[in-house]
Amino acid sequence: MKAVASVLPFRVNDYVLEELIDWSDIPGDPMYQLTFPQPGMLRLTDYARMLGLVRRGASRAEIKTAARRIQFTLNPHPAGQLELNVPRVGGAPVPGIQHKYRETVLFFPAAGQTCHTYCTYCFRWAQFVGINELRFAGRESQALADYLRDQPQVTSVLFTGGDPLVMKTSVLRRYVEPLLDPSLEHVGSIRIGTKALAYWPYRFVTDPDADDLLRLFEDVRKAGKHIAVMAHYSHPRELAPDIAQEAVKRVQDAGATVRCQAPLIRRVNDSADLWADMWRRQVRLGAVPYYMFVERDTGPKNYFEVPLVRAWEIFIGAYQQVSGLARTARGPSMSATPGKVLVAGVATVQGEDVIVLRFLQARDPDWVGRPFFAKLDRDATWLDDLTPAFGEKEFFFEPGLRELDAAQRRVRMHEIETGALA
Ligand SMILES: *Cc1c(COP(=O)(O)O)cnc(C)c1O
Ligand code: SF4
Repeated sequence: MKAVASVLPFRVNDYVLEELIDWSDIPGDPMYQLTFPQPGMLRLTDYARMLGLVRRGASRAEIKTAARRIQFTLNPHPAGQLELNVPRVGGAPVPGIQHKYRETVLFFPAAGQTCHTYCTYCFRWAQFVGINELRFAGRESQALADYLRDQPQVTSVLFTGGDPLVMKTSVLRRYVEPLLDPSLEHVGSIRIGTKALAYWPYRFVTDPDADDLLRLFEDVRKAGKHIAVMAHYSHPRELAPDIAQEAVKRVQDAGATVRCQAPLIRRVNDSADLWADMWRRQVRLGAVPYYMFVERDTGPKNYFEVPLVRAWEIFIGAYQQVSGLARTARGPSMSATPGKVLVAGVATVQGEDVIVLRFLQARDPDWVGRPFFAKLDRDATWLDDLTPAFGEKEFFFEPGLRELDAAQRRVRMHEIETGALA
């Protein structure tokens, strides 16, 4: 445990320990797998190296250095996040902002880069193991408002992390309030991505500033904007405790919508019946199923990954057994370099077996909604593994993607040459 936890961060709170994990069923219990690092999550050689260090009583510094080396091989910022999507004003990157899709800006508040409990598969861990140069921490909210003022096409701001709801309400309010200014009329919705409804529902019910949080949601509504809590639910069990249901109700009573999303994770939720159960429970509480994500190409991926075709089978297996109210769920979706790519299904076209794909979001808005086709590959787990069907040399978006990357590189080179980069 110590050997693994020095590489993969570990944190679990009493609520998860006492209410969510079924201790009669460990280590197989899905909530245990979701929160407790396991030896199989590291490559065997890495595990052996860390175990060796721990056993011979190596110094903290030595263990930390070895852990860092392994962490860097685990691809902490996939899909070009660090390089490609951080907007720049006057040559300088705007801290804490990622602007990949035209209408929506992601914001990573500096104080929200941790979580109530850590998920073992999480690709965000680079942000909370103290690799400072890899952090996208926002220093201040004014920079966000200033950026948005010049971006009239942005209609939605999504606070993410870590978990923004580890922040005190007073801190969160400092970030949210400037967005309610009349100069940002074009921003019609504010979303808060959080796992607090699942991992710490007290945040909305009994924490000292729970009522303040709900008042903040009400203030967003009063300013004429939509406020959505993008709730990360991995397992139906997270929706069962009374306190968890009460939290959902209080959020809704404050005028916020609860939309639900989670990645599909082997050993945690890789079952159609489980997703159908989860979506039904969400709809019963008035929450809206939103995304099923494909586990990203990062972290202990081999331990958790589900092949794309299998993911699609799980998705439709769940989709086929729920009412239309739960069919707001979309997926399985990959957040890949060019955009969010939906695995729409498997088909046979003119005798060729193909995977049908479609952009839900794209770096070039023109790509959105367009179906494209890959050769059927039952082992593929990510877009990079796929090859185009019908003898095509590349997917339709690849020339445009190269052009976008080249343009971005030219801007960067220009900045470096003219000394605009501080
Ligand atoms: C998912 C995502 C969004 C939000 O997309 P919606 O389809 O509007 O939910 C925004 N930015 C990035 C980088 C994302 O991955
Ligand atoms: S709550 Fe979200 S950001 Fe935090 S560890 Fe889990 S998946 Fe990662």
